[in-house]
Amino acid sequence: MSVKPNVLLLGGTTEASRLALLLAEYGIAAIFSYAGRTESPRTQPIAMRTGGFGGVLGLAAYLREHRITHLVDATHPFAATMSANAVTAAALTGTALAALTRPAWQPEAGDRWTRVPGLGDAVEALKGPRRHIMLALGRMHVDAFGAQPQHHYLLRFVDAPEHPPALPDHSLVVDRGPFLAETDRDLLRTHAIDLIVCKNAGGSGASAKLVAARQLGLPVLMIDRPALPERREFHGPQDVLRWLGHDASPGTERGV
Ligand code: NAP
Repeated sequence: MSVKPNVLLLGGTTEASRLALLLAEYGIAAIFSYAGRTESPRTQPIAMRTGGFGGVLGLAAYLREHRITHLVDATHPFAATMSANAVTAAALTGTALAALTRPAWQPEAGDRWTRVPGLGDAVEALKGPRRHIMLALGRMHVDAFGAQPQHHYLLRFVDAPEHPPALPDHSLVVDRGPFLAETDRDLLRTHAIDLIVCKNAGGSGASAKLVAARQLGLPVLMIDRPALPERREFHGPQDVLRWLGHDASPGTERGV
């Protein structure tokens, strides 16, 4: 007899929120976990908790204490520490693990991408004369670009920061995706942007800036994803549901 799932869903992405909706709809026991980085995270239709677990051992203890049967890692592709911890804690506790990921973006005709392996390489690549750069990175990694203070930086954050970013010349827009190509094109034009720096997040929520860059013929400095340990991966919330023993195809009887 299969075990009734009790899911811990590591969130912080649009895909995690989509899966949470399905879990609620199908009545599957589940807890949604936020790191607690944003001030007003989206309310989820399942139980929620916020904050780190205290490393691998903390997560392992949580999995045991809450009798989690399935751990679903739907964190951002650049949340490498959390994802690595999930693999180790799942192995330590014998918890089934799957990641809900999105394919990386691929350059299309008309794109002018330069790819770099990491954040430090992106900072290094910005040596040289002043430019108007959109740093589409989220607030956590922006300060590293203080090493190239000659540029004007356009920043877009989900929340207004408590302390001003350590960049001498910047404009800040507070906005939450998903974004539209048309409005991103206007934003790039208004700020006279001549380069976009971003992480290869994949997915549709943040891809508008790439479409806008293509339309305007702007170059993009694309930071590749960090390497992650091998794990079971799904690209769609429905696939995760199937893995949990529920048939999520429309028109079929729902599992229990
Ligand atoms: P990270 O570097 O991999 O994680 C650092 C620590 O934050 C983890 O070791 C863990 O603390 C805690 N943590 C991360 N995700 C968590 C979650 N869902 N629930 C509970 N604790 C969590 O991750 P990050 O890059 O700081 O990202 C933090 C969160 O923001 C993630 O949930 C991610 O999905 C979201 N996010 C990240 C990015 C990005 O570009 N990195 C972009 C959009 C959204 P303990 O070790 O104490 O357990």
